[in-house]
Amino acid sequence: MSERRYDPQLSAVGDAPAPSSEPVTQRIEGHAALVGDGMPINRVLPSRLRRLVGPWCFLDHIGPAMIDNVGPLRVAPHPHIGLQTVTWLTAGEILHRDSLGSLQMIRPGQLNVMTSGRAISHSEESPGAAAGEIHGVQFWTVLPESARFMEPMFDHYPVLPTIARDQLSITVISGEYGGERSPARHFWPIVGLEISAGVVDTQLSLDPAFEHALLVIDGTANIDGEALLPNVMLYLGAGRSRIQLACDAGCRIILIGGKPFEEEVLMWWNFVGRTREELTRACVEWNAGQGGFGDVKGYDGSRLIAPMPPWASAPG
Ligand code: MN
Repeated sequence: MSERRYDPQLSAVGDAPAPSSEPVTQRIEGHAALVGDGMPINRVLPSRLRRLVGPWCFLDHIGPAMIDNVGPLRVAPHPHIGLQTVTWLTAGEILHRDSLGSLQMIRPGQLNVMTSGRAISHSEESPGAAAGEIHGVQFWTVLPESARFMEPMFDHYPVLPTIARDQLSITVISGEYGGERSPARHFWPIVGLEISAGVVDTQLSLDPAFEHALLVIDGTANIDGEALLPNVMLYLGAGRSRIQLACDAGCRIILIGGKPFEEEVLMWWNFVGRTREELTRACVEWNAGQGGFGDVKGYDGSRLIAPMPPWASAPG
């Protein structure tokens, strides 16, 4: 079976276009890949065309896939620094374990937010005897300088606020929208919504101070005249106070946005930092069992090894 895995690449925010302070429409195609033991995903961020949308720096659209066909999700223990992972499912279940001792099942409609701060490690897997569909998204958000060395935390939010109007049901995953506020912990001005729609043609209001992007994960939609299929993200820039949204039946859209992130950011593998040296050190320390990443208990398998970045020359 041929697998299209990602060769790790340095993602440098400075290499991509700067946030647009004015409305634009930029289409960014995701790339199909496999994560863990072979779960199909579509990676939308980071892209050479766009590294960040507000503080959102990573977006994997997981599935949709049938576990009977692709096997269970199995992502072995691995480390993170400098970010939050934000996990949201529309079908299936994922069991999260981390080095804080958290053991948490996530189901559709619930949110897991793991704040790595200075260092954490975790694993993600389908629960035993899992079957049926798995479908969802996993994002990362960059922690700003003021928060990136904080102690790690894990939060599970069993219920999120929703807004129902017209043929829309809007779940506020992150930040605030339409007078509803997500309980999820964040450290930079942010918004994240899941919009499920029936057949509808309506307006959505936006905060013009935020840049935004939309990703269809089910069905088809038309945003301000741009027809969208799943796995093509539409980046909108900032400076918009509304968009026109038309959906077909059974459409599901993820909207992300936030205040344009002001710090230079480098990403390598599962690490988000500011310098190459910092990323190298994280790889060395994780592989040596040092660096305060802790241990994930209970995962049936060995932990992942960090790929050394190309700029890290061997000693001697
Ligand atoms: Mn992870």
